[in-house]
Amino acid sequence: MTSESLLDPDGRLRELAGDCVHCGFCLPACPTYQLWGEEMDSPRGRIHLITQVLDGGHGGEAAAEHFDRCLGCMACETACPSGVQYGQLIEAARSWSEPTAGAPPAPLPPRSARDRAVRSAIFATFPYPARLRAALGPLRVAQRTGLDRWMAHSQLVRRLAPEAAAALTVAPRTTRSRQGPARGRPLARSRTALPTRIPARGPRRAVVGLLTGCVQQVLFPRVNVATATVLAAEGCDVIVPARQGCCGALSLHGGRRAEAAAFARHTIETFEQAHVDAVIVNAAGCGSAMKEYAELLTGDAGWVSRAAAFSAAVQDFTEFLAQLGPAAPRSELPLTIAYHDACHLAHAQRITAQPRTLLRGIPGVSLTEIPDASTCCGSAGIYNLVQPTAAAELGARKAENVRSTGADLIVSANPGCSLQLAQALASAGHPMPVAHIAEVIDASIRGLPPGTLLGS
Ligand code: SF4
Ligand code: SF4
Repeated sequence: MTSESLLDPDGRLRELAGDCVHCGFCLPACPTYQLWGEEMDSPRGRIHLITQVLDGGHGGEAAAEHFDRCLGCMACETACPSGVQYGQLIEAARSWSEPTAGAPPAPLPPRSARDRAVRSAIFATFPYPARLRAALGPLRVAQRTGLDRWMAHSQLVRRLAPEAAAALTVAPRTTRSRQGPARGRPLARSRTALPTRIPARGPRRAVVGLLTGCVQQVLFPRVNVATATVLAAEGCDVIVPARQGCCGALSLHGGRRAEAAAFARHTIETFEQAHVDAVIVNAAGCGSAMKEYAELLTGDAGWVSRAAAFSAAVQDFTEFLAQLGPAAPRSELPLTIAYHDACHLAHAQRITAQPRTLLRGIPGVSLTEIPDASTCCGSAGIYNLVQPTAAAELGARKAENVRSTGADLIVSANPGCSLQLAQALASAGHPMPVAHIAEVIDASIRGLPPGTLLGS
């Protein structure tokens, strides 16, 4: 077998690429094509490059760069009239730059030592809550002293370590700071650990498991608390398995399939033992990856059917709640809210109506639409760290569109989007508070004042 046929032993990638009829309908929807107008930075162009690599052509460094520049936002899948499953293609193409032991020889040149080091640092930190939490200590000191802002704006740091500058720019406030524009509510100083079982209030309507996530539990523990509180108020017993870890979404979307598969197996096993009716996810990227486990574990005979059963039980928080229907009474929340569609919710999971229905169900809420809502904000997993220039440009466009709504509050359902939106709006000189949809529903059910969400 040639190394090219080893890349696609069952011909599946070739078949997926062959679904593309080159019509170009996806081009206007693609954020990177919007930015640069380059065919090879469009979905059609990238599919062409993937086919070239599968044919044994020499895509080389240029192909790898075009694959890396893709946000993985899946706007092209929504736009494609032929139903091309671009997500599976780009995830495979990304893995070609991430050779692993036992995998076929990589058809793309290896990343530079510097790129490998940056990616290793990211993937050795973010999926592990304890390590991510440990990194907050130095961040707190840097934010208190103003060192973070100095480093983020230093030309030298930007040139030598643009990823570090981007990380400092997008990092949430860990403490109230007198420097720079406000970026919403600071992080909780302590861990907000949830009990492993939160009983339903009133008659029990379901037993659900809650994924607490990595970034979500460290940077936004109050979102997990709000999610569990709302689910319990709506009549759900909420099981929060203590043994759970990363779901593998960051690894999967970054092309590290073997790593993602290991995380997936652990997640499946953990929630199987919890015996729940549904597994609830409040981070769009995680939910999207967990619904793909069967595809990820294809070829692993011992796991594929377990993965399919698990994925069938996974539901986004808004998807589950809209289907369950409200039982807990809502109090008035006089706010104009702009709802931001996270790409992995809107495009990858096709969930757009449910969050809007839930928000409209809150008395006093006026929902406003963000122009060009279907275009990515530039967060895209680790994209704003490894492609900071493109991410900043997309963030600035999104900030302008959000600002034009005149809303009091932006609501999102993904932690990466929340960080990116807050940072982009602050950079544009229009800081606005950002909340997760679970926090808004929780505030309404508990009768909290709007200021709770506005940080005032
Ligand atoms: S995933 Fe997003 S950035 Fe990548 S090709 Fe599709 S639309 Fe473009
Ligand atoms: S991916 Fe879909 S929309 Fe884009 S060129 Fe191919 S068939 Fe057309």
